[in-house]
Amino acid sequence: MRNEELKTLSVIVPCYNEEKSVHLFNGAVIAQLGRLDPAKYDYELIYVDDGSRDGTMERILGFAAENDRIMYLSFSRNFGKEAAMLAGLEHANGDCAIIMDADLQHPPALIPEMLQKYEEGYDQVIGKRDRKGESGKAAFFARTYYKLVNRMVDVKLVDGAGDFRLLSRKAIDAVLSLKEANRFSKGIFSWVGFNQVYLEYENKVRYADESRWSFKRLLRYGVDGIVSFNVQPLRLCVYLGGSLLVISMLYLLYLFIRILLYGIDVPGYFTTITLISVLGGVQLISLGIIGEYVGRIYAEVKKRPLYILSAANMEPQEQKRGRNESDR
Ligand code: UDP
Ligand code: MG
Repeated sequence: MRNEELKTLSVIVPCYNEEKSVHLFNGAVIAQLGRLDPAKYDYELIYVDDGSRDGTMERILGFAAENDRIMYLSFSRNFGKEAAMLAGLEHANGDCAIIMDADLQHPPALIPEMLQKYEEGYDQVIGKRDRKGESGKAAFFARTYYKLVNRMVDVKLVDGAGDFRLLSRKAIDAVLSLKEANRFSKGIFSWVGFNQVYLEYENKVRYADESRWSFKRLLRYGVDGIVSFNVQPLRLCVYLGGSLLVISMLYLLYLFIRILLYGIDVPGYFTTITLISVLGGVQLISLGIIGEYVGRIYAEVKKRPLYILSAANMEPQEQKRGRNESDR
């Protein structure tokens, strides 16, 4: 009778070269999940191995052999955390899912609180870290970035609120209904909306070695965040080009008046400058705009899968649902 109230929680953990911390993470998270009321919650723990080149996958296979609630998906190569999260969400069986990192930066102790909020009816329970213990430089860059981005994109991005969050089934399905190839999760999570609540947690320094994010990657991610969510940058392009045009017009006027007052110093100079500045400005704007569109269309039109699995002990939701329907 109580069975109807039994909910399944999926915990999704993207891992890339986490050999040094994944066993500690596993212990901590299993301990936490073990404390959930078994009459209310069943759980599955889904490790998504993002093409790790160290012993991460062996460790995960070890966990799965000991505990049949532990699932794994393993990528054929490194496809990035976005793809890993997507794979986890596509395979999750849960009524709700929590996405968390394998490096112990996301405290498993927050899980019960997240579930509490979920029971209160929130569809997204978002972990929000403070920036304690972080280098001043990193915090400064992050803050500036968010200020800049929030001015440009239509969705709201919150500093410290990342991928550590609980999503209800409604929210999961909504996230999965966005089929775009260029996935910027922070934006997608924010875009789908629903009732959201933030839970603060203390920022911890990464347990083993350094972040998996190189500077180049961070930069690309940052640019993605701005570009993949709307056409504001294109508008900026137009404004920029427009300002350039106005400035060059003013300059030309100034030159023209000079010519009227003092005569021509070098014959042909005026017309040459006119051609170069005005035409160059206008052409660059147009090219930039078209280029942005073409680039985006190119990525979407190829319709490549966003990841390739090399091993897994579970099936995607879609397949399962399809089969259930044909059974009937
Ligand atoms: N990660 C991943 N694929 C990648 C990079 C990272 O699955 O290409 C995982 C990583 O194993 C970790 C999480 O994503 O569980 C966050 O990575 P990291 O701690 O390096 O990022 P940060 O905490 O600095 O944002
Ligand atoms: Mg981390």
